[in-house]
Amino acid sequence: MSRFAYVNGTYARHEEASVHIEDRGFQFADGIYEVIYLYKGRLIDTEAHLDRMERSLREIHMDMPMSRRAMMPIIKELIRRNRLRTGLIYMQVTRGSSKRDFIFPEDTVPTLVITARRGAAFDPNKSLQGMKVMTMEDMRWARCDIKTTALLPASMCKQVALDAGYSDAWLVNKEGFVTEGTSNNAWIVNAEGKLQTRPPSHEILNGITRKSIIELAQKEGIEIVEKPFTVEEAYNAREAFVTSASACVKPVTQIDDKVIANGAVGLTCEKIAKIYADFLEKA
Ligand code: PMP
Repeated sequence: MSRFAYVNGTYARHEEASVHIEDRGFQFADGIYEVIYLYKGRLIDTEAHLDRMERSLREIHMDMPMSRRAMMPIIKELIRRNRLRTGLIYMQVTRGSSKRDFIFPEDTVPTLVITARRGAAFDPNKSLQGMKVMTMEDMRWARCDIKTTALLPASMCKQVALDAGYSDAWLVNKEGFVTEGTSNNAWIVNAEGKLQTRPPSHEILNGITRKSIIELAQKEGIEIVEKPFTVEEAYNAREAFVTSASACVKPVTQIDDKVIANGAVGLTCEKIAKIYADFLEKA
């Protein structure tokens, strides 16, 4: 079956879909993106993702390429054409194509690319296998709250971790606090047994999954401390895990050479995964 992608007004075969070589996304990473989880035919947290898209665009002085009312039928049509039930919807907006110049061009038509990819349905019984993460200096730029496509630093960090035998990196700022994973938000159950994740700021991407889990956990009476934690605190944590639209909830059982919770998946992580899986079923 052919895969289809949406590129600036047309549904093209995935292998033939393309943008211009002068596209500013290609030349300058001058663009932003969003990833929405499609779970059993339902788009998860669409409004929140589109809110963040609008915000990321505003921060780089761009408008939404079209209204949400116009965008939703395109996403749905792409899902239909790709016969997707569960997977990821990737959307990228760039400042468009124009003669290469560091100065933002005026009157360029933004590029909108949407792709859809089949994926597995989140199942806490299958997904909850711990991964190892390695801490490293967060050398990404200073505006990590913008979901920019300038992902080279994140990609470099993840590659270093993979080459060293880890699944991902937890990035650490100059003050020694963990910021987040290369493409996910970081959580611990701290030494006092409290669920902890750092508050949103320019140092992290404000995860939509993070936000949903905070709301869901609070409804269940689970207390959450939104406070930065150091690498040392992470080493001494009772549990650790990450969240994102593509991983949902993923346990971390080793940070550098420190094994967390004897290498087992913690009860809180299991509970959060279960709550999130229930939320996905009802979304
Ligand atoms: N932090 C970073 C750096 C990310 O790239 C992502 C996901 N792309 C997240 C956090 C998680 O965000 P969300 O839950 O919205 O997927």
